[in-house]
Amino acid sequence: MRLSQMLFVTLREDPAEAEIPSHKLLLRAGYIRRIGSGIYAYLPLMWRVLKKVSQIVREEMDATGAQECLLPQLQPADLWRESGRWDTYTQAEGIMFAMKDRQQREVGLGPTHEEVITTIAKDMIRSYRQLPVHLYQIQNKFRDEIRPRFGLMRGREFIMKDGYSFHTNEESLKKTYQEMAQAYSNMLRRSGLEFRAVDADSGAIGGSGSQEFMVLADAGEDEVLYTEDGQYAANVEKAVSMPADAESSPFASFEKRETPGTETINKLCKFLKCSPTQVVKNVLYQAVYDNGMTVLVLVSIRGDQDVNQVKLLNELTKLAGNYQAKTILFLTVPDAEAQGKWAAKSLPLGYMAPDVADDYIAGSKQVNSKFLRLIDRTAVDLTNFVTGSNESGYHVVGANWDKEFPLPATVVGVRSAKKGDRAVHNPEQTLQSARGIEVGHIFQLGTKYSQAMGATYTNEQGEEMPFVMGCYGVGVSRLAQSAVEQSYDKDGIIWPVAIAPYHVIICIPKISDAKQVEVAEKLYAELNQSGIETLLDDRDERAGVKFKDADLIGIPYRIVTGRSLSLGKVEVVERATHKSHEILIEEVNSTLKQWIDAAIK
Ligand code: ATP
Ligand code: MG
Repeated sequence: MRLSQMLFVTLREDPAEAEIPSHKLLLRAGYIRRIGSGIYAYLPLMWRVLKKVSQIVREEMDATGAQECLLPQLQPADLWRESGRWDTYTQAEGIMFAMKDRQQREVGLGPTHEEVITTIAKDMIRSYRQLPVHLYQIQNKFRDEIRPRFGLMRGREFIMKDGYSFHTNEESLKKTYQEMAQAYSNMLRRSGLEFRAVDADSGAIGGSGSQEFMVLADAGEDEVLYTEDGQYAANVEKAVSMPADAESSPFASFEKRETPGTETINKLCKFLKCSPTQVVKNVLYQAVYDNGMTVLVLVSIRGDQDVNQVKLLNELTKLAGNYQAKTILFLTVPDAEAQGKWAAKSLPLGYMAPDVADDYIAGSKQVNSKFLRLIDRTAVDLTNFVTGSNESGYHVVGANWDKEFPLPATVVGVRSAKKGDRAVHNPEQTLQSARGIEVGHIFQLGTKYSQAMGATYTNEQGEEMPFVMGCYGVGVSRLAQSAVEQSYDKDGIIWPVAIAPYHVIICIPKISDAKQVEVAEKLYAELNQSGIETLLDDRDERAGVKFKDADLIGIPYRIVTGRSLSLGKVEVVERATHKSHEILIEEVNSTLKQWIDAAIK
């Protein structure tokens, strides 16, 4: 491609709309253009990168025997009602774009395709003999994200590879799942990324396991906890660890104390000269179940620990049946406005005890009249502890379970693991923390969707059984941008060779110099001929401008047909290192071929 004929516009200044380096660079270098919130055009250079990433993904998927297909993006609401997800996706999470067609039928734009694929399997797969089967597609997904940001990292329309496998049993599912873990590692390695596979929360989807593939970068929205020995890595949402030991309490007898202005644990411990490990803090949450029932949840946890909302959400989902509900829609810390809707009187916030009275709640049809009281494991064994008194400005010290306070009936594990905690597999190892960008997620779904949608096959004994399913996603557009987030310098992007839009850019320093043009044209034809993807900067611009642009767009090798032509040579500069080589014109092709092959392997 000749730059003189390309839609090629670069910006010298960082665009105001971008916060992180990769987003700024992709905009500045003319790869993407914002069309609306979370909506981007992939310009020609970007599209080449995306096609390369897709091709790597495709090759790794095909190698496992998965088959590519293309499913509709426009999806009937009825399918989503069958799985029970229409209301959660369109209302609760509100992530699905939904609309009515001219016949007043509801349809949505696909945020994911479990429903569509399951209905196909239901229709087409009759017998165990047809299993296992694995279908995948590479296609745009639509999600009305609450906070679209960072360019392609969190878009409202983005490219995903999603795959779904169907099995007769868990063992067969696990085999495919393992193959996918390997395929995903291969994809990321081949794309030139530094990544980590981590244990992940399977959340409401359930199933027996899931892993995320995290590209390590400071701008990552996820926190990964891992140990140096390489034995453990997990998303903080899922991570487990051993909490520090509690210090023994200095308070020997039960007593109420005036503790003014101590609504936080820090202030309280300073005031009472005690350790947060001697405090039971009581944290209030508000859960809304799918039948509209609001439940106020009080979690008692050791003062030095924090509640992990993802873990709490999972516990509350398990308890949905107690409230005649199927699943949970929202989990929030109720602010003053939310409290106003159900509080019968003002709550002693910051001073609540585990037994805070139920009459703070004005119960109704929609609001459960009793607190759901949960206790985290870290608080169960505390003795002579400090906690609230249900009166602002006062705490109690020297309290004990089943003496001053009944032990909450439901014991849960909802504490967040954090950096510095001892690892469960080996207490000598402490958890380290890193930021990660989630580029892939693989799930063992089990029978959740097949059961809900009545998707069954006939097994060897002639019985109707629900499919055992897995699903596997890669954010193709997010992956491409995360490569930039991991690899850039002050001059611009440094693409890994495997996914760079072009391998080589030839810069003609002076377009009026016939010799320079002649050699450049010759090399341009020759390199492209031999499969080296080459750009020719034949614009009538100063050499400095051309070099700046070449660095900005991040093409791995730059050829300059300049001074050394008189010696029968050209200059070849490596983008990543700025290392310059003088190479004989007739050896350029073979040398570059070697370098590129070596870099892509
Ligand atoms: P996240 O937690 O980042 O919102 P998710 O867990 O909802 O992602 P999945 O449903 O597992 O995402 O989708 C599979 C992959 O699609 C993700 O691993 C991610 O790489 C990509 N992805 C998800 N949402 C977006 C988005 N809004 N923009 C770009 N890529 C996305
Ligand atoms: Mg995910």
